[in-house]
Amino acid sequence: MLQKGCMYCDEVCAHRDSLMIKICDFNLGTLYLFRDQKNLGRCILAAKEHYTDITEMTPEVLHEFWDEVVTVANAVHRAFNPDKINYASYADTVKHLHIHIVPKYIGGPNWNGPFSDADPKFLSDEEYAKIIETFKKELGK
Ligand SMILES: [Zn+2]
Repeated sequence: MLQKGCMYCDEVCAHRDSLMIKICDFNLGTLYLFRDQKNLGRCILAAKEHYTDITEMTPEVLHEFWDEVVTVANAVHRAFNPDKINYASYADTVKHLHIHIVPKYIGGPNWNGPFSDADPKFLSDEEYAKIIETFKKELGK
């Protein structure tokens, strides 16, 4: 089910577009590239349905959704070779289940600490397009 007024459920959402760019769909999730790329390859996998928490998913759906997270993480490892990936699910205010997939690099932003939205690094449209193509290639999309 979708919820009107939710930034992940609404088909068109200027706020969502200001934060991220859609990369591709999976069966249960939609993958977005986070516009702040100070952590190269940072992306979000958002559930297509309006779940507010993983506890609302059946075990089968939860398993399949996490398989999609793992598929994305493996693509990030192949494409960008991070030293670690951080995963986070907050949804304090945006109450729609989404997983932040944040590559971390030794000596890079927030290494050995929580990732942050401070000091964002925005790219050109061409640079975003290049990263999105890399994701699609690695994901076979
Ligand atoms: Zn929603």
